[in-house]
Amino acid sequence: MSAPTETHTPMPALFIGHGNPMNAIEETEYSTAWREVTTSIPRPKAIICISAHWETEGTFVTAMRQPRTIHDFSGFPDELYQVQYSAPGSPDLADRICRLVSSTTVSLDNQWGLDHGTWSVLRRMYPKADIPVVQISLDRTRFAHEHYKLGAELSALRNEGVLIIGSGNIVHNLRLLRWDASAAYPWVLEFDQLAAALILEGEHNRLIDYQALGEAANLAIPTNEHYLPMLYILALQRPDAPVSFFAEGLQLGSISMRSVRIG
Ligand code: ZN
Repeated sequence: MSAPTETHTPMPALFIGHGNPMNAIEETEYSTAWREVTTSIPRPKAIICISAHWETEGTFVTAMRQPRTIHDFSGFPDELYQVQYSAPGSPDLADRICRLVSSTTVSLDNQWGLDHGTWSVLRRMYPKADIPVVQISLDRTRFAHEHYKLGAELSALRNEGVLIIGSGNIVHNLRLLRWDASAAYPWVLEFDQLAAALILEGEHNRLIDYQALGEAANLAIPTNEHYLPMLYILALQRPDAPVSFFAEGLQLGSISMRSVRIG
């Protein structure tokens, strides 16, 4: 942004387990938690969201003045397709992100918009849609430690009133969903608990190297696009800064809704 404002207290950073898109329109314990977390956060000047639902080759940031609402799912009720989240974009912030990140090239995007990883949580958090939002894509060609590094490079923006959100799920195995809402698989609980402990202990390297965490991890993260947004947020943790969970629970048998707050 052209005139950054330095503040002494950095904005918190949030990882949100978004789960079922219906959380966008149904009152659930999760949509309630997303709304409530904003009451203890200063009003952001802008929001950056790293969503599980925007994978690209190369890293992109949305740069349009008015991003469209993308309904990137199928088989849900009409009501969900009617949702519009008309927050403005921020070409200035997009440009600043391009200049701030040095570990990779970040390119401006004028095609994407706000996918449901972003709007399904933001319409709960900031229903007026009056705070500028940009998305950063997940470069599917890069390793987990490279995503973590990119996350850390966004740190200065926290001092400028920017709220950085990662939107995904720590455990996310769609192939093994249980729509009848019966009990979660044991490996879901096992990996969710292990990840929670490692997050609280600041064991970021073990979380980056998640494939070495055993069979539960392999089942929990069959593909990593829902897991990687969490690494961006952990990378923003500063020494001695608090880390806490503002939502936790399991949806559809194979999704962890655990949500993490840094700062
Ligand atoms: Zn998702």
